[in-house]
Formats: sequence, structure tokens, C-alpha cells
Amino acid sequence: MRVTVLGKSPSWQDAAGACSGYLAQEQGARVLLDCGNGVFSKLRHVCDYVDVDAVVITHLHADHFLDLVPFSYALRYAPRQQPVPVAGWPGTADPARPRLYLPAGGGELLRRVVGCWGHDDLIDTAFDVHEYAADDVLSVGPLTVRFCEVPHYVATFAVELSRDGARFTYGADCRPNDELVRFAADTDVLLIEATLPRPERDGTRGHLPAHEAGAHGREAGAHRLVLTHYSDELDPELMRADGSDGFGGPVDLAAEGAVYTV
Ligand SMILES: [Zn+2]
Ligand SMILES: [Zn+2]
Repeated sequence: MRVTVLGKSPSWQDAAGACSGYLAQEQGARVLLDCGNGVFSKLRHVCDYVDVDAVVITHLHADHFLDLVPFSYALRYAPRQQPVPVAGWPGTADPARPRLYLPAGGGELLRRVVGCWGHDDLIDTAFDVHEYAADDVLSVGPLTVRFCEVPHYVATFAVELSRDGARFTYGADCRPNDELVRFAADTDVLLIEATLPRPERDGTRGHLPAHEAGAHGREAGAHRLVLTHYSDELDPELMRADGSDGFGGPVDLAAEGAVYTV
């Protein structure tokens, strides 16, 4: 499978960047992992949005779901999605309606968000909405999707995409934990957040600095480690050095447009 980084910013976007979004493609099947602000535009550079089979949202923080709103408007109102010819498009009896997988309670939360401007059914009518449980195993074309709950400020799930033993693991957002280490054990590629320049000084922890992210990769025995969810306001060489020190080997820093083949 090929995984393209569409956006890697934390909860505020890099200059010209996008928040979390990663597109996995395998034999014509396409899965979008997270759809944060800016991701829909980046997606359109890589593939046609009507060809996305499924969107999987790891957790209901704005930087992981906000672009479901423009994605939904496109699916609802784009001329080519209409039943009759519009603006040179022939009309379709079978408009694209990708599957949208949300954590429990996600459907109601998104209805409240879009309900703020009176469009409660926007996302339900654009997507085929499902809520997943931690032990669900999904199939999207040849890809198998598995989940693992990881500790963060809200219910959050790491996601594994696999095919024939080749595994790509996305840690979502998380504080230091053993769950992700077990879930990602021996994975081919671990995409892990490295949000912080240093651990949180007080309050509940929710994120990882690069050194801890590296250590999670080492403990998991990940074959390749990619740090993500970091700001362009951090020094990338310092992050790379810290991450590599924790991992015990070289790490990659996610960059928009980068493609990982698993
Ligand atoms: Zn985030
Ligand atoms: Zn988050």
C-alpha cells in the first residue's frame, strides 16, 4: 500500500499546511485517515475525492475532523453528484457516498457542529456514517483496518492498515502509553505523533515529545518510524535528533506529499 501525507500539522496549521490527514491507497481502494482542517484541499491534489472509499476518524478533536465539512459540501452539492445534468456534468443515479467511520458518539457530535448553522443532516447525507468499537475489524477493498484505544484527552484510537502481513500503524494523538507499543509491535511503519518540544509541565498529559515518540517506536520494534503532528515552529533537526536518540536509529519527519510504501 502507498500512504501519502496530506497534512501533518498539530492543531494549528503550518504556513500553507494542513492538519492531520493521511491517504492510504492499495489496488484502487482508498482510505483517508483523519480529515483535519486543510486536508480536503490537499486530498484533491492526490486523488479525486469521489474515489475515496472510506474515511476513518481517530478522535473528535477539530484538527482531525474539521474538513469533513467541506468534503460533505462537495459530496452533496458538486455538479457531478447531482441526479440531472448540471454545468456539463452528465448527472448520476449513483453519487459517491464514502463510508465514514467515527468513534462512538461521533455522529451526534458532528450533527451538533453542523447544526450550529442549521445543517444538522449535512454529514449524515454526504457520507455513509458508521461508529466503530475498539475491537471492530473493517475491510476496505484489500485493506484490513484494526483499532486500539490510546490515552488522550478524549476517546482516541490508533489505527492499523494491513494487507498480507504488511502493516502501517498510525498512533493518532496520545500521551505515553503501553497500548500503542503492543498494538504496533513489529509493524512495518509506525506513524507517531511528536507534538511537543518537551513534556507537559502540569495537568493531564496528552501528547509526546520527539524523544518519547522515538522510544515508543523502539519498544514496539517498528521497522520504520515517522514523526508527525508537529508544528513548523519547531526545529526539525532538533526533533530528528531527539527522535532518533529515543528510537536508536534514524527517524523520518512527516512532510506533506511524502509517500510511504508498505
Ligand atoms: Zn491532533
Ligand atoms: Zn487530539
